[in-house]
Amino acid sequence: SAADDKGIKWGKAPCRYCGVGCCVLVGVKDGKIVATKGDPAGPVNKGLNCIKGYFLSKALYGKDRLTHPLIRKGNKMVKASWDEALNLIASKYKEAIAKTGPDSVAIYGSGQWTVFEGYTASKLFKGGIGTNNIEPNARLCMASAVAGFMSTFNSDEPMGCYDDLDLGDTYILWGANMAEAHPVLFSRLIDNKLKNKKVKIIDIATRKTRTTQMADEYIPMYPQGDLAAVNAIIHVILRDKLYDEAFVKQHVNFKRGTENQPYGLKDKENAKEEPKPLTFDEYKTLMKPMTPEWAEKLSGIPAKKIEQLAHIYGDKSRKVNSLWTMGVNQHVRGTWVNNLIYNIHLLTGKICKPGENPLSLTGQPSACGTAREVGTFSHRLPADMVVMNEAHRKKTAEIWGIDPKKISPKPGLHTVEMFRAIDRGELKCIWIQCTNPFQSMPNLSRYRKAAQARKAFIVVSDIYPTKSTEVADVILPSASWVEKEGVFGNTERRTQQWFKMVEPPGEAKEDTWQLIEFAKRIGHGGLFPYSQKNFYKEMWEEYRKFTVGTGKDLAPYETYFKVRGLRWPVKSNGQETRWRYTEVDDRYVKKGEGVKFYKGVGGKANVWFRPYEPPAESPDKEYPFWYCTGRLLEHWHTATMTGRVPELRRAMPGATLEIHPEDAARLGIKNRDKVKVSSRRGSLVLTAEINGRGKPEKGNVFTTFFDETKLINDLCIDAFDPISKEPDFKKCAVKIEKA
Ligand code: SF4
Repeated sequence: SAADDKGIKWGKAPCRYCGVGCCVLVGVKDGKIVATKGDPAGPVNKGLNCIKGYFLSKALYGKDRLTHPLIRKGNKMVKASWDEALNLIASKYKEAIAKTGPDSVAIYGSGQWTVFEGYTASKLFKGGIGTNNIEPNARLCMASAVAGFMSTFNSDEPMGCYDDLDLGDTYILWGANMAEAHPVLFSRLIDNKLKNKKVKIIDIATRKTRTTQMADEYIPMYPQGDLAAVNAIIHVILRDKLYDEAFVKQHVNFKRGTENQPYGLKDKENAKEEPKPLTFDEYKTLMKPMTPEWAEKLSGIPAKKIEQLAHIYGDKSRKVNSLWTMGVNQHVRGTWVNNLIYNIHLLTGKICKPGENPLSLTGQPSACGTAREVGTFSHRLPADMVVMNEAHRKKTAEIWGIDPKKISPKPGLHTVEMFRAIDRGELKCIWIQCTNPFQSMPNLSRYRKAAQARKAFIVVSDIYPTKSTEVADVILPSASWVEKEGVFGNTERRTQQWFKMVEPPGEAKEDTWQLIEFAKRIGHGGLFPYSQKNFYKEMWEEYRKFTVGTGKDLAPYETYFKVRGLRWPVKSNGQETRWRYTEVDDRYVKKGEGVKFYKGVGGKANVWFRPYEPPAESPDKEYPFWYCTGRLLEHWHTATMTGRVPELRRAMPGATLEIHPEDAARLGIKNRDKVKVSSRRGSLVLTAEINGRGKPEKGNVFTTFFDETKLINDLCIDAFDPISKEPDFKKCAVKIEKA
């Protein structure tokens, strides 16, 4: 860092918000963050930030920042010392473990945890307490992406990177409103469009958005229509021989496995049966009924359009990138749609090549780095390993210096089950860090009622009061972002490190410190032997052992101090990797070898047969509309931080209900009228917005879950993908009435 002429000292950090992972310069003066700006030297964003990034400096200075531990006394939260709070938590956890076993306690974390926080939590719960009841909120957004990667490639995270967006010429967006949810990344598509006349952006979605405004073509689709449409695109690719025969022969296996096989191929010990291999001809036969006409009925996309899309994907002169995020992942068959998009790229050979790749976008700053690479899901261990596999438990135990028997082979509760277990009275203690599930979960009232009935002892560590601190027994004030040292991993496998730049307010403490102090009180302090002086370096080097030699190699800690991140695998010469299955690094890919899915079965990737299935709930006479919840530009997630920035709050004060003008007219609803929206799970009142920023297709309504005054996700069904266990926030049935 360096000081400028106004006495502001500038340091580097990744943005605190979305998975794009913009490189930010943080200006500090007199112990406070006074400014932030996009780093012109940052390869991710080249100096740009979105509006959230520009106001980052204000996100930490809301008036109601939590500064002291608080303990519940009846209906009141009373100030307490750290000792009192931590002793109470320790006694409650010890009591529950002694009475009902380690699986009666849990921790629920976040893709906003730093790598150190996620690693500490995982080591403590999986290696110390002996339960796999640890989940990141990434289960709500990226679990289907993980299951998609694991089942197709047997290795998590993308083969390509952001450079593909500069080098490609065709972008097919599946239900992704990138202009609002990944704005800086979207600007790279637009920059390319301005330079290259050939560039085509195709937006396939259930509503017109700001992304549509910049797209060359908008293709409206029914909810769950992607599952049929992608299958029909594959049908045409096969029928019209648009596939790359040589690539397929060399790099692809065809599979039709146990359709609900969990967790991908590594989970052999837990799989009910081995996936049955298919020949290419058998696969073609299976795909025959999935014609464009069949898909038109299920997706609403005209058969002709599906044919055109298939020919765009199959056009050898086009460099095609597919992009998607929650529209695909938050889906009862999210894993399948991930698999199907990979199928298109594997069949056409448009994969692992500069400028043509599928790119699964992430929502949180370290959904990749912490939730996935560290292995904080309830079935995972670091570097793609899983708790069900004996060799993986053994390797983990060796690095952690513990008895392998200490790690349970049973996957812990996944997110929805974790909250259902509170309702059932089976989970006695849960510690929530860095996330706000009592606003974000689907079918929310069920879990809020259980918490309010004090069915479990709830600890919440956060930086502001939230809907989750409302139901807590203990609230712990946390340090945030540059108030601590950390590492995040973004969408393109980029690992970014930053140093602590300012002190947290009052008595706020890092989540890592909170966990280790708790660990000491329950007899597991020995798991964290790192020295005071080199605490993070020592923890990093221990964690790094998991990655070395796996194709996910991280660099020594100091390497990250001076760079704007490195994309793994970091090669033996210290350089990053842009295209992980093709770049020459003798450890994984030999010169002249071409594409090598080096961790796939026989070095090949799997093309899965994934048929159509209907949604968990569809509109009917009583509940005739599709309800979809999502994000917008100004706020991030449940707005716990962006809601404290006056400029962002003024720009977007509350959620509205976007509705099609014809639907509104039929119901006698005018713009800005109050409307009551009800599902089988609950109802709420929202302001109708007709022809606003987002324009849903007829029969669809859309709203945003950032607004803490309304439990938006309460209406959502908590049905989940049977493979990834990710809930479907994108479709359920509601009715609309004038309020
Ligand atoms: Fe970049 Fe996302 Fe931060 Fe906006 S919110 S500045 S796009 S990382």
